[in-house]
Amino acid sequence: MSASQSSATPAIDGVTTGVIGHWINGARFAGSPDGTLPVFDPATGAVAAQVALASGADLETAAASSRAAFESWRHSSIATRTKVMFAYREILSERREQLAAVITAQHGKVLSDAVGEVGRGIEVVEFACGVGELLKGTHNEQVSTDVDVWTVLQPVGPCVGITPFNFPAMVPLWMLPVAIACGNSFILKPSERDPGASVLLAEWFSEAGLPDGVFNVLQGDATAVNGLIDHPDVKAVSFVGSTPIARHVATSATEQGKRVQALGGAKNHMIVLPDADLELAADAAVSAGYGSAGERCMAISVVVAVDPVGDELVDAIVERAKALVITDGRDSAADMGPLVTATHRDRVRSYVDLGVEEGATLVLDGRDIVVDGRPDGFWLGPCLFDHVTTEMRVWSEEIFGPVLAVVRVSTYDEAVALVEQSPFGNGVALFTRDGGAARRFQQQVEAGMVGINVPIPVPVSYHSFGGWGASLFGDTKAHGTEGVHFYTRAKTVTARWADPATRGPDLGFPRNT
Ligand code: NAD
Repeated sequence: MSASQSSATPAIDGVTTGVIGHWINGARFAGSPDGTLPVFDPATGAVAAQVALASGADLETAAASSRAAFESWRHSSIATRTKVMFAYREILSERREQLAAVITAQHGKVLSDAVGEVGRGIEVVEFACGVGELLKGTHNEQVSTDVDVWTVLQPVGPCVGITPFNFPAMVPLWMLPVAIACGNSFILKPSERDPGASVLLAEWFSEAGLPDGVFNVLQGDATAVNGLIDHPDVKAVSFVGSTPIARHVATSATEQGKRVQALGGAKNHMIVLPDADLELAADAAVSAGYGSAGERCMAISVVVAVDPVGDELVDAIVERAKALVITDGRDSAADMGPLVTATHRDRVRSYVDLGVEEGATLVLDGRDIVVDGRPDGFWLGPCLFDHVTTEMRVWSEEIFGPVLAVVRVSTYDEAVALVEQSPFGNGVALFTRDGGAARRFQQQVEAGMVGINVPIPVPVSYHSFGGWGASLFGDTKAHGTEGVHFYTRAKTVTARWADPATRGPDLGFPRNT
């Protein structure tokens, strides 16, 4: 380790050590697991804890608790919900460092990045604090003589959230504050790779005054996921993860007539036009390509260099990437930590081998990295491929690691056509000084989130997060007004309070007069 500051992982039994179990009905619940899986400390490679895999009986307990809690929570006042949300926001804000430390210990991302993740999650809680405004519905007086019509937004029922490893706090917080503020109960099935944060999220929500059973956590793997989707009490499913699983979850939930939003994988491109500020573009490519070791759904994985910027841009990226400090995320000097597991690191590294076989030029090779004092961590240094083409799998497939590909093209039109050749449509960025080009780009490009001189255009909580194409199945994005739409059902009431002008049956279609 360097002489820089290093923070220790808090030892919390059932969160960072021991067996990480469920949270059901306002308390930790050991249940009767169908086995456990190891949870690693990615910087040391050591097994730090085990996570319980929910059995069918555990799932039934969670579902029954969620169903019972829904029946009373749906009638809770907006004042009550608002108070709970404000209290939750305060607790999360005060303890953000503690939550971040747990994330770093199990995910590996550097501590400042984990603090940032928690911060973006808190912003969704802040959005949910305005639930009174969000659930206002609409009203028309006198749509016909003495007739009024109004639409109210009612909760959907017990909802489920299935989340990925790469944002163990932020992605659950995209979902659960909005679902719960709208009057639903919610079961979270976190990633089995870094489940510790989910237990704290639940404990602290209880402390904020949330009634028992409104928020439950069920630990497990694919078996738990499929059991939850198929459970008759579950009315809506939010999923975030890889594209094949997102497609499976969306298909399976839809077949059962359930609401579903399933956010999938990504391959985000960043186009650099000849007039761009190349220093800014290189900073952005390195930050967005290697931040969180490339394990972000909004990571930039392809830089599209429009002639003649290629050589200068690649040199600038290499210079910056070589200066990155790769070490334990708890070390304050760290720019980039390890990958989440050895299996994932090996998969990412195999893509680097593949790119070489496919004929791309590997200008930066992170495969042989050695980290002082951490020989068994799941390391892979920054890798950069130049002269990548669309025939290569390192271009077309999601790698989800610190591997950046540069594709060179001759024109703006070629660059946009290349972006649109990708089946994913999560985020895309354009670097330019030309306002006209930027305007044309944001209007025409096929992607759900667009950055202009912003490499990671993650929408703020009061806008909605989600991509297009193979990056989202379903038609509603996360949080913002689309989140409220997803977690509510509209009911429209038509009422007349007057003596009808005419009495007696009238079989004609109701007319507005
Ligand atoms: P993953 O798809 O492996 O796992 C996501 C969740 O699905 C986990 O809770 C896991 O337990 C469950 N799961 C895994 N296999 C399953 C199966 N066969 N059947 C049912 N459930 C299953 O994803 P991950 O590796 O944890 O996360 C990384 C992926 O998530 C990347 O593809 C990344 O792009 C994507 N992601 C997307 C977004 C977005 O907003 N679009 C955000 C974050 C991450």
